[in-house]
Amino acid sequence: MDLQRPRGTQDILPAETPIWHRVEGAAHRVAQSYGYREIRTPVFEHAEVFRHGVGDATDIVEKEMYEFEDRGGRTLVLRPESTAAVARALQQASLLSEPPVRVYYIQSHFRYERPQSGRLRQHTQFGVEAWGVPGPLADAEVIALAGSFLSELGLTGLVVRLNSLGCDVCRPRYREALVTFLQSHRDELCGDCQRRIERNPLRVLDCKVPSCQAVVRQGPKPLEYLCADCQQHLIGVETALSALGITFARDGSLVRGLDYYSRTVFEIGYEKLGAQSTVCGGGRYDGLLQSLGGKPQPAVGFGLGLERLLLTLEAEGLLPPAEATIDAFVAYLGPELGPEAMRIANLLRSAGHRIEMEALGRSLKAQLRRAQKLSATYTVILGPQEFARGVAVLRNMETSAQAEVPIQDLPRLIEH
Ligand SMILES: [Zn+2]
Ligand SMILES: [Zn+2]
Repeated sequence: MDLQRPRGTQDILPAETPIWHRVEGAAHRVAQSYGYREIRTPVFEHAEVFRHGVGDATDIVEKEMYEFEDRGGRTLVLRPESTAAVARALQQASLLSEPPVRVYYIQSHFRYERPQSGRLRQHTQFGVEAWGVPGPLADAEVIALAGSFLSELGLTGLVVRLNSLGCDVCRPRYREALVTFLQSHRDELCGDCQRRIERNPLRVLDCKVPSCQAVVRQGPKPLEYLCADCQQHLIGVETALSALGITFARDGSLVRGLDYYSRTVFEIGYEKLGAQSTVCGGGRYDGLLQSLGGKPQPAVGFGLGLERLLLTLEAEGLLPPAEATIDAFVAYLGPELGPEAMRIANLLRSAGHRIEMEALGRSLKAQLRRAQKLSATYTVILGPQEFARGVAVLRNMETSAQAEVPIQDLPRLIEH
């Protein structure tokens, strides 16, 4: 057998899951401390959710979706992002009739991208969304939440880059100026961007091709075209961030790769990592629900890729040291004691201890080696003579000190 996992996926092995538990635990804790509640959506959705929600002319929808026909002839896709799916779910459950709705998710996303460090075809994102809140405090709230999460994991020196993409009133004017500008520089743009000029000019701002970036740098910026309301909104976000003591900077060339953003877009960067420093991105998407056929509904949120975050934590030495996986190993001598060993192991589990017991009936020496390997804090040794007297040997694996103790005292004597 020579089976390999698919390209762009990863196995998270038992030695690695404690790190995931820690990061996901922090996400749950911090999101809930801001009043956000978890939502989970299906792994696959009707393709329209993302075609309409994310936008037909985006890379995600054009090139990266895992799209398939099921046996009933429906066109389904593996969820490439969660915001459009969450919008679909909230709309379907009629939850948006009573705003605000604050939700968060920790979900897998699937994109057919070229695999690279920290960017997988199946990746995990922690995201939060505040629905039904039009004012700038909501934008500041999700940014603050992301900041709290990252600093809880030990990341400091975070910088928020902030931009506004305008609204339905002012964006058309900007778009027009941008199209005129790009048309006059058509020859300098890559093939993709030449096609984007008419279809989706904002995406040119996001192109990674250096010659395109050089063109964009000289072009018009959304900030120069903001209407009074959008300007006020941006200032409102900045005022709130200042009050919270969050470091931020305006970045007029910041755009996000999805169609649905309006007004605020932001990224949180980790200075020390340089150009690849973005660990979190988000913004406002007031028009998303409408593009899915619902009523207009303001919303703002962020998404944060956890695989990439783990690489950052690892690079910074912020991953926790391996801790003891079990509190006690139950060893026993002679097959007839097996059922009693099982009963005692369960007694200890009921008292809240993490217990593994000998499974192969090996020699005491081999059993102690196993306990050592598991980093057990204690080993309980059951022998026939001791058992007949109602006692067991309790061995402290760190000090090797051991003593006979009454079996009924074991739950109390074993400490985490
Ligand atoms: Zn505007
Ligand atoms: Zn380009």
